[in-house]
Amino acid sequence: MNRRDFLKSAAAAAAASAVFGKGALLKAAKTPLLKPEGSILNFNPRMQYRPMGRTGVNVSALGFGLLRLPMLSNGKNVDFDQSVAMIHRAIEGGVNYIDTGRVYLGGQSEEVAGRALRGHWRSRVYVTSKAPWWIMKAPEDFERLFDESRRTIGTDVIDFYHIHMIMHRGWKEKVIPFKLIDKIMKLKDQGKIRFAGFSFHDRLQLFKEVVESAPWDFCLIQHNYLDYEYEAGCLGPKYAAANGMGLAVMKPVRTGFLANLPSSMRAALRSTGVEKPDTEWALDYLWDIPEVSVAVSGMGSMADVEANLRYASKAKPNMLTPDERKALGVAIRAFRRTPGHIDCTGCYQCIPCPHNVAIGYIFAYVYNNYLVHRDKKRALFDYTVSMSPIQRGSPASACVNCGACLSKCPQKLNIPELLKRVRHDLES
Ligand code: SF4
Ligand code: SF4
Repeated sequence: MNRRDFLKSAAAAAAASAVFGKGALLKAAKTPLLKPEGSILNFNPRMQYRPMGRTGVNVSALGFGLLRLPMLSNGKNVDFDQSVAMIHRAIEGGVNYIDTGRVYLGGQSEEVAGRALRGHWRSRVYVTSKAPWWIMKAPEDFERLFDESRRTIGTDVIDFYHIHMIMHRGWKEKVIPFKLIDKIMKLKDQGKIRFAGFSFHDRLQLFKEVVESAPWDFCLIQHNYLDYEYEAGCLGPKYAAANGMGLAVMKPVRTGFLANLPSSMRAALRSTGVEKPDTEWALDYLWDIPEVSVAVSGMGSMADVEANLRYASKAKPNMLTPDERKALGVAIRAFRRTPGHIDCTGCYQCIPCPHNVAIGYIFAYVYNNYLVHRDKKRALFDYTVSMSPIQRGSPASACVNCGACLSKCPQKLNIPELLKRVRHDLES
C-alpha cells in the first residue's frame, strides 16, 4: 500500500475491506454510535460517549489513564492529593472510564484509584485493571494478582479486566501454557469481572490471532497518527470492531511526543489554517476513527484534565475535514524527513529475533524520536526503563549480525547496520 495515501479514508477503507471482507465492515459501519443518554453511566452533556463493542455499555470518549500521574518532588511517590482531585474533576466532567494496572507506578496507580473511587465515585465509573504475565511464576499467580488488584482498588468487581501487554513472548511463554484466557473467562462467569480483554504490543498478525482466540469483549492497543502501521496499526481498530470488540486506545500522544511537536510538523498542521494545540490534533485523529470507543489519556496535571475535557466535548466519529486529514499526512512526511530518520514503520515483521533485539521498537519509537529532539536523557529512558528485556526485547548491542531479519523487512532496511548506528548513538 502507498504509505502516503494511508491516511485518506477511502484508501484505509479499501485496505480494511480487503483484509476483513466487505460484510464485516458493513456490519461495523451499521453499529449505532450513540445510545439514549439515560443508559449512559455518569452522563454529562459536555462529554461524548461511544459504544464499547459487544459489552452494551457506552464509555466516555476520553478515558483517564493512571500511568502518568503527578509525582512528589522526590520523583518516586505519586502526589495522591493532586491525583485524586484530577480524577474527581474528570469524573465531574463526564469521564466514566478509569484505566489502571497492577504494576503501574509500582502499584501506586491502583492505590490512587482506590482512594479516588471511595464512596459514590466508584458507582460513576467503569474501572479497569490488568494482569501482568511477566511477573507470574505459576498459573495461580493470575488469581493472586487479580485479588490484589481488587483489594487495592477497593472493589469487588473490576469492570474491564485485561491480560496485560500481550506480545509474542508472553503469548507463547505464559498466556497459552498458563491458560490465562480460560482463567479470565472464568472470572467473568463468576461475576468477578464484567468484561474480559487484553492489551497488546506486537504485530498485526499476532493481533488477529489473539482476537480470534476467544470471545473477547474489548482490547486496548497503542495507536496514533504517526505510527499508523506500528503494532496493530490502523487496521487493528477495524479488525477489533469487525469481531464485535470494544476498543480502547492508549498513548494517544505517543508518550508525549505528539504533545510537543517539532516545528516542521507543527507548520504542516497549521497549513490548514486550523489552529489547534498539538494534543488536540492527536486526540482528534483517534476520535475521528469510528471504531475507537475510548482514547485513554495519561494526564499529569489539572491543566491536562481541563484541556482534554474541552477537546472531548466535540469528539465525534469522522470529525476531521479533508484538509485536516491531508495536513496529518504532510506532518507525517515532515517527521520522516528528519535527517538520519530510519524508515521503519514499526510493523514488527522482523521479530522474533533469535537474540530478542527489540528492532521495531528501537527504530520506530526510540531512535527516530531521538533524532527529532536530540533529547538523550529521554531517549535513554525509552531505551532502558521502558524497554525491559522481558517485555519489549534487548538493546541494539545484543545483535550478533546473523542476518535472519533481513529478508523479513518490507522496507528493505539493513537492520544490523542500522542497529550499529543506534548502538553508537545511544549506548556509547
Ligand atoms: S541480524 Fe541482529 S537483529 Fe537481525 S535477527 Fe540477527 S541478531 Fe537479530
Ligand atoms: S525493521 Fe522493517 S520489519 Fe522491522 S519493524 Fe521496522 S519496518 Fe518492520
